[in-house]
Amino acid sequence: MPHVYRADLVFLDGEFKADRGLVVGDDGRIAAVIDSADIDGQETTHLRGKAILPGFANAHSHTFQRLIRGRTETRGVGGDDFWSWREPMYQAALSVDAEDVYRVARMTFLEMVMAGTTTVGEFHYLHRAQDGSAYDDPNLLAKQIITAAGSVGLRIALLRVAYARAGYELPPYAGQARFYETLEEYLENTASLAEELLGSERAWLGVAPHSIRAVPLTQVEEIVAWARDRNLPIHMHAAEQQGELAACRREYGATPVELLAQRGLLSNKTTLVHAIHITDAEMDSLAANNTIICSCPTTERNLGDGIIDAAKAAARGIRFAFGSDSQTQIDPLEDARALEYHLRLQIQRRAVLDEIGGYNLSQRLVHCATVGGAEALGFDSGVLAAGCPADFLAIELDDLSIAGNSASELLSVVVFGLARPAIKDVVVAGKHILKDGAHPLYKEIVEQYKEVYRKVWRA
Ligand SMILES: [Zn+2]
Repeated sequence: MPHVYRADLVFLDGEFKADRGLVVGDDGRIAAVIDSADIDGQETTHLRGKAILPGFANAHSHTFQRLIRGRTETRGVGGDDFWSWREPMYQAALSVDAEDVYRVARMTFLEMVMAGTTTVGEFHYLHRAQDGSAYDDPNLLAKQIITAAGSVGLRIALLRVAYARAGYELPPYAGQARFYETLEEYLENTASLAEELLGSERAWLGVAPHSIRAVPLTQVEEIVAWARDRNLPIHMHAAEQQGELAACRREYGATPVELLAQRGLLSNKTTLVHAIHITDAEMDSLAANNTIICSCPTTERNLGDGIIDAAKAAARGIRFAFGSDSQTQIDPLEDARALEYHLRLQIQRRAVLDEIGGYNLSQRLVHCATVGGAEALGFDSGVLAAGCPADFLAIELDDLSIAGNSASELLSVVVFGLARPAIKDVVVAGKHILKDGAHPLYKEIVEQYKEVYRKVWRA
């Protein structure tokens, strides 16, 4: 039976419209957008004093890294950088058993839901048991993650990661023992998971050769060809760190993006995560291939990665998505505003991404957080219109962080001022998973997470 979600304001066609209802069908999609006057007698959830926006799609997450939040903020011996940050990350990765993986994922996904996320892309590279041996089911941990997403109500694209080596001319590294698969293992295990998920709109598969550092080029080529045959999204870390570019030049005589472009490995199904240290020519090749960039500014600033020149990329029409990546913070709007703010600090100007390619600044940032993320994950959410998934959030208009603004300014105050507690309701596939700020599993999930945290860090 159709169900109507009605609110004071609904974000339709790039602006807020007053007093509308979204009619949701049994298939979890929007059947129609109607005036509230036309609701008569239909089963209705009235979101009074609230505004509805499309749900956010988080295109890049490593759930287990939630465990190292707050534990890497001191300077190590000899300074600290991305490469030393990886040590506690590996320690966390080695410490969690299958049940822990599930519990930490639920905690991370719950925070995403409470930040308005409706779809997540989990860049999943924990494949093996803690001692490095294969589980009886090589997809055990991937399935723990998928079950965790389902339990809190999120849709998930499981981006199954290929990880073959520590790096060019480097021996296998103990901290990465749970990540490694041979190409044959990877393709076999990925195919079997793809088959199990076939036809689902709640959980589906993408491939993710981790990076040029961790996967030799010939293997990247095979994995990309395999994914193209199946029309799957392809995600890869690229150009996050200068050290990664230098190693790639030593091995192949080119940077990662040059290499991917030269070998015809970029397409409109490809998402490059970070893509910070890239030249104008490399941006041109991303634009020519309609490749997506997934920016993770809250993580990138935490790791000292650098600042992407998003204005140059936007001027070329390159599509953007956002990811919470290391889970330093889980707040898609903070990632959105940081994309702009980092440029302001860098070039000492304001509204850098405004009025590029027909978008105003706030529209652009919301588009990246919704449609951009969904496109990166191969899904069609992000727009509230008939036929689209009924995936949305509702914000309280009288929340202290946004109250007072008129509908015409609401989007800007949401993007630049909204605090996460203003997000009161989240609906995924028509199902009301966060109701007036409450999630039914909140207590259980937090308690179970604390147990894992104490176990891992002996705290
Ligand atoms: Zn990442």
